[in-house]
Amino acid sequence: MITLALSKGRIFDEALSLLGAVGIQVLEDPDTSRKLILSTSRADLRIVLVRASDVPTYVQYGGADLGVVGKDTLLETGDAGLYQPLDLKIAKCRISVAVREGFDYAAAVRQGSRLTVATKYVAIAREFFAAKGVHVDLIKLYGSMELAPLTGLADAIVDLVSTGNTLKANHLVEVERIMDISARLVVNQAALKLKQAPLRALINAIAAAVKI
Ligand code: AMP
Repeated sequence: MITLALSKGRIFDEALSLLGAVGIQVLEDPDTSRKLILSTSRADLRIVLVRASDVPTYVQYGGADLGVVGKDTLLETGDAGLYQPLDLKIAKCRISVAVREGFDYAAAVRQGSRLTVATKYVAIAREFFAAKGVHVDLIKLYGSMELAPLTGLADAIVDLVSTGNTLKANHLVEVERIMDISARLVVNQAALKLKQAPLRALINAIAAAVKI
């Protein structure tokens, strides 16, 4: 049995098309069933649904043989011990700095003022601002980061941006792009040895589908 860890939402939806392209159908819909283990059209492949930030942990400790996880999560929570053979080029977005409309970010940075930055991505934000030589006070949030500059909690946020619609709807503007993000395939190193033939075949099939 091969176990693939996915998180609900964008990654699940887009991974579904990728799996479809290699002839694998998921037989249950996680939005209507409460199941956390989903069977597929391949008797030897099942999907486990976990939180995005738990995917690396599941794969690292062998709760899943492989998983799909955003580069943002890998950078933030660590990728030690994970084999990362493929950029799946799905769930594409960028991680950016955004501020309230009218906030003079360039001046704040130029003047060397201390910026308060709210984010779920404290490790990524810390490294980015340290490399720029900007002093920041980081506030860790778990969601709704867009609210932070609007309520005075922070001067800026570091968050994922896709279309930019969420920022626009909340009167925020993107002032710096930190990096482009996409989902990666991660594989448990021991599983790769123990289940070499089926895992290599699956990875190769997915690699071919990504190139199309
Ligand atoms: P958008 O309005 O299209 O710019 O999307 C921004 C919102 O969706 C923010 O709340 C992001 O945290 C979230 N988001 C955007 N892209 C992704 C992604 N690839 N994975 C997870 N969340 C995302």
